[in-house]
Amino acid sequence: MPSIRENVLKLLSEIPAGVQVVAAAKAMRAPEVLEAIEAGITMVGENYLQESREVIGAIGARVQWHFIGHVQKNKVRHVVGLFDMVETIDSYDLAVLFDEHARRLGKTMPVLVEVNSGREPQKAGVFPEHVPELIERLAALGNIRVQGLMTMGPFLEDPSGLRPYFRLTREIFDYVGAMGLEGIEMRYLSMGMSDSYHTAIEEGATLIRIGTQIFGPRPGQ
Ligand SMILES: *Cc1c(COP(=O)(O)O)cnc(C)c1O
Repeated sequence: MPSIRENVLKLLSEIPAGVQVVAAAKAMRAPEVLEAIEAGITMVGENYLQESREVIGAIGARVQWHFIGHVQKNKVRHVVGLFDMVETIDSYDLAVLFDEHARRLGKTMPVLVEVNSGREPQKAGVFPEHVPELIERLAALGNIRVQGLMTMGPFLEDPSGLRPYFRLTREIFDYVGAMGLEGIEMRYLSMGMSDSYHTAIEEGATLIRIGTQIFGPRPGQ
């Protein structure tokens, strides 16, 4: 099996300029994450607050930490304290909590709005048609800063089928950008994982979230 280092070098050499990799490090510990960082990773994504504490504590501020999991409302305070960006804002109420805790910490928290591009009722994320209106409201919150959109898309056997969902998310990204809202900076479009990032990049992703292709299969995967 290739090493984490080899995986990162290969990935970074493959992707076009303007696309950045968020190493999705769930289930990984500090040594694995450090190996990825030493090979050139500058952004690390974590899904679970509990396991991220140890990793972030060991590695510190030499990379940007992105929260990419579902945020429980009673954990917002800790997420604001530990992370540089949260990619999974999917309601006004959640955003207000981030704004309040960020204000208490004297911080401005960069956030992405998670789009439920497949309109799946059981899944996290804002339905596409509600995204512009939500972002308009978020523009008024002074201690968060919307910097773009994130989407997962539906689970499909053939990940190339995600193209229409990525395209739709890109269209919303462009639409909101063209609204020219003050304080809103549509800069990051986070979409694509190990099995779908080629398609996502073709559809305009600027952040790709890669776990398996960097760290290998997770236990039980
Ligand atoms: C795990 C995870 C990824 C990466 O998935 P891989 O298929 O292992 O690349 C990306 N985004 C989120 C939100 C994840 O939880």
